[in-house]
Amino acid sequence: PLTFDQILLTPRFGRLPSHFYTRIQPTPLPAPYLIAWNQQLAREMGLASDAGQQPNLADYLCGNRLPTNSEPIASIYSGHQFGVNAGQLGDGRAILIGEYHAANGDFWEMQLKGTGPTPYSRRGDGRAVLRSSIREYLCSEAMQGLSIPTTRALGMAGSAHGVWRERLETAAVVLRTAPSFVRFGHFEHYRNDLDSLRELADWVIQHHYPSARQASNPYVSLLEQVIERTAVMIAKWQAVGFCHGVMNSDNMSILGLTLDYGPFGFMDGFDAGHICNHSDDTGRYSYQNQPEMGLWNLQCLAQALLPLMDRAAALNALQQYQSHFEAHFADLLRQKLGLLTWQESDWSLITRLFELMHASHTDWTFFWRNLANIDNSLRNHFLDRTAYDVWFSDYQLRLSREAQDSNERIASMNQINPKYVLRNYLAEIAIQKARDADDFSEINNLHRCLMQPFTEKAEFEHYAALPPAWAAQIGVSCSS
Ligand code: AMP
Ligand code: MG
Ligand code: MG
Repeated sequence: PLTFDQILLTPRFGRLPSHFYTRIQPTPLPAPYLIAWNQQLAREMGLASDAGQQPNLADYLCGNRLPTNSEPIASIYSGHQFGVNAGQLGDGRAILIGEYHAANGDFWEMQLKGTGPTPYSRRGDGRAVLRSSIREYLCSEAMQGLSIPTTRALGMAGSAHGVWRERLETAAVVLRTAPSFVRFGHFEHYRNDLDSLRELADWVIQHHYPSARQASNPYVSLLEQVIERTAVMIAKWQAVGFCHGVMNSDNMSILGLTLDYGPFGFMDGFDAGHICNHSDDTGRYSYQNQPEMGLWNLQCLAQALLPLMDRAAALNALQQYQSHFEAHFADLLRQKLGLLTWQESDWSLITRLFELMHASHTDWTFFWRNLANIDNSLRNHFLDRTAYDVWFSDYQLRLSREAQDSNERIASMNQINPKYVLRNYLAEIAIQKARDADDFSEINNLHRCLMQPFTEKAEFEHYAALPPAWAAQIGVSCSS
């Protein structure tokens, strides 16, 4: 295992022509201290996992030191924000320091989020605050634990350095990793520049979609694969009640990874129209709109790629989205219900359940996790208990028509319905301890719990509790 002092970075995105980015050094962070270090990810990457074995760790996590051969850059992208073409954006507070080529052959782009201004910061300060950095760190790893495609977070450093949002806060930097941080917005930026568009598409295909090269039009194949991955990712979000909050096209990963954790939220009580982002006045990115917003963003991507393909091919690819989404979502619901097969009539079982849960704001995570219990104690989580009893007996009848032993069914349901998710209030407690007492233990405890969200552990039982009343008062907005 290697330390940051020993690794060599290999620029790959930085081998694209220089107009795709600007070379820029991270702004030093005064007196950084270590907040979190993801030992499990470090091991996966072949890095020395014990923080004590990593000299100058906090300096590496915030960009005060850079590994050998780092060529830090901020990339340019554009995008549609809340349905409006926002024009040029870019990495306004993230810097790609290079790619780490692990011994097992994997490439990991390493990006520092919150390292100060870049040419694309416009009015922003290029910093990220402690609270949003903790949320990104914990949620990326929670998603990983749930087997939902995501960028990862390797570690986090903080500083007493002040940052203004609605009030004075302090700065933190997350070192995040992914095979690539390329967004739909990168393609949108070059939609009127055929040479650059082709260069970028070729780069993405070469490094991330090599199978597309076999297709008669590799760019169509690229689009089709991104469409499928996006549909699968959003089906998985819906299944765990995850709301992203800012599904702008610049926050959509070309690899179908959950990207840019801001005002996200896991739903507590089920509300189909749940809006997790307090800045989202119209509910554009509400829970029930997410699948459609995925398609909307894919249309932006397809529009940008049009110079490389026939219109008919792009439209045909987009038409596959709905069926990919539905097939994957139905399959997840089937597993959540503990069924071996999916029958058309199961949609009505689901629709009736969703209506009952919506009317009662039944806790999403608690309900699904406890559905495997044979007794009917969940009825207490519904306003109309008689209606729920009818549903429950229909569900029991449906189960009885399947050739599955109930212990096996319970075991498989417990592998798909998590016991623990990063509820807003849990993140909030970890943030308060970090902010008020420089106590980072809660971050690490939550992280350990969320890496294995399907495994019941006595020490983590309190993380599975229903949210306290004050949880409803937490507001999360884009200001991070
Ligand atoms: P977001 O809404 O976080 O996805 O960010 C949208 C755009 O604003 C991106 O180009 C970001 O890089 C930029 N941005 C967000 N916050 C800041 C900040 N504090 N300083 C500079 N740029 C920022
Ligand atoms: Mg963003
Ligand atoms: Mg953001």
